[in-house]
Amino acid sequence: MNLTRAGEIFCDAILTLAYPHVCAVCSRSVEQRRFGVACESCWQGTRIFTDDEEICLKCGSPGPACGRCAPLAFMAARAVGMYEGALRESAVMLKRQPYVARHVENLLVAAAAREPLSESTMVVPVPLHPKRLRARGFNQASVLAQALSQRLQLPLDEVNLVRVSTPEKYRAGLDAKGRRETVAGAFAVRHPRLVVNEDVLLVDDVFTTGATVSSCAEALLAGGARNVYVMTLARALS
Ligand SMILES: [Zn+2]
Ligand SMILES: [Zn+2]
Repeated sequence: MNLTRAGEIFCDAILTLAYPHVCAVCSRSVEQRRFGVACESCWQGTRIFTDDEEICLKCGSPGPACGRCAPLAFMAARAVGMYEGALRESAVMLKRQPYVARHVENLLVAAAAREPLSESTMVVPVPLHPKRLRARGFNQASVLAQALSQRLQLPLDEVNLVRVSTPEKYRAGLDAKGRRETVAGAFAVRHPRLVVNEDVLLVDDVFTTGATVSSCAEALLAGGARNVYVMTLARALS
C-alpha cells in the first residue's frame, strides 16, 4: 500500500467518524466514504456493465442489437450500469451535490476506457438549461465530465456546446419519437473550429431515450466533430 492510498483510507475513517451516514438504498451505514451514497453490499447488488456484457453496440442497451437506436446521431453510447440501486441513488445525489465519489469515478473511468469510447480526444458535458443552472448552481453532467477529463487526461470544454432554444416542457406522456422531436435543434456549437476532427466524449448523468444526447451529437457533428461517443452514469429502460 502506498502512502497516498494509506492517507485516503485514513481520511475515509476520519470522515466516517465525523459524518456517519446511512446508505440511501438500504439505510445501513456506509463503511467507506469512497462508496458515496450507498454501502458496499448495495453496490454489489447494482447491475454494473462488465467487459463481456452483451449490449447493443450502438446505444449500449443490455441484450443484442436493439434496432431502435438507428436514428440516433451518436456513434456509440455506454453507461456504467443500470439506473437502479446504488447507481440510481448516486445519480439522484449528483443533482443535489456537485461531488463524485471515488468509487463512482473509478466506474466511469473503467467504462470510458473501453472501445470505442477510448478513442475520445476531448470531453464535453450536455449543457443544462440556463434557468436550471441558475436554480441548481451547477450542472451535474459537468461534474461528471470534469472528473472524466481529469482522470483520462483529456481536454474539457464546458462552454462551446450550448442550448439555443427552450425545449418544450418535458411531457411524460410523449413517446420516444415525440421526445426526440421536442429536443431536436435545441443545441448548437458556438465555435466549430474547436470540435473539428475531434472524437468527442459527450457526458450526461442518465441515458433514457437518448434523445438529448442525440440532439447534442447532431450539433457537434454539424460543427465538424469526427465522432461523438456518449458516456452516462446510468442507463434507464426507455
Ligand atoms: Zn446499502
Ligand atoms: Zn441500440
